[in-house]
Amino acid sequence: MQKTTEKQFNKNLDYENKIKEQQKTIEKLSEENKELTSDLGNAYFEMDMIYEKYNLMKELFETSNNVKLCMGCREEQPNQEAHMGLHGCLSEEDEILSNLRKKRRF
Ligand SMILES: [Zn+2]
Repeated sequence: MQKTTEKQFNKNLDYENKIKEQQKTIEKLSEENKELTSDLGNAYFEMDMIYEKYNLMKELFETSNNVKLCMGCREEQPNQEAHMGLHGCLSEEDEILSNLRKKRRF
């Protein structure tokens, strides 16, 4: 009986030490990645800015030239797909940014 308890106690201690080790590793990793996380945050912020700028430029272009950049709108296409892709009025932000990135590197 006594032996089992001691064995269990040592096992628990072993687990505790392993958990402590893991916590230390996690702390170390998150410290190392602080810079990376901040860079990623800046990149997302820049992407937001670019998308905002794109929308503004698109609106300006369309208003001053009295045209629609969306091919689907120009051709009065009833299917949704025609309104997606580059400059499409139904394009998602990610889609537009990846399309723009293909054309220009930033
Ligand atoms: Zn459209």
